[in-house]
Amino acid sequence: MFVDCPRCQTKYLLEKADEEGEFQCMKCSERFMVIGLQDDAPTQISRKDKTLLIPENKRIYVEIVKGSESGKAYQILKPIVTIGRGSQADIPLSDASISRKHCVIEISPERTVLRDLGSTNGTYVSGQRIDFAYLEDRSEFDLGNTRIRFLEISK
Ligand SMILES: [Zn+2]
Repeated sequence: MFVDCPRCQTKYLLEKADEEGEFQCMKCSERFMVIGLQDDAPTQISRKDKTLLIPENKRIYVEIVKGSESGKAYQILKPIVTIGRGSQADIPLSDASISRKHCVIEISPERTVLRDLGSTNGTYVSGQRIDFAYLEDRSEFDLGNTRIRFLEISK
């Protein structure tokens, strides 16, 4: 499994399991986490209308750009990523204004969708509360006091 530093794009070969968790780039010192390295993480999810998967020609990252977890970056290797308060979420945020299951990112080759999961305080794109929205490279969205930036980099 290859991962790529979100800042300098250096490639690393990660062994599964023992490299789960935070990772530091040896070249630029950027710290990032990798979501979806576990053996049981599905790489493809079929639905009625589409198949969710990470496109082979894209690298997907999310960065937390505002809030208590600001500065954290994640490379995404599985097509459904949950965001919420507490350790159940793929991207856990310690922010009291965020619901446990707040929102989810669903990735397919056609488009990436951000979906609110009925959160108490809502998910916002450009100041508008959304039920769902399409994410493109450098899209940002807000939940509670946290702002998240989505990055989609062509290989
Ligand atoms: Zn780096």
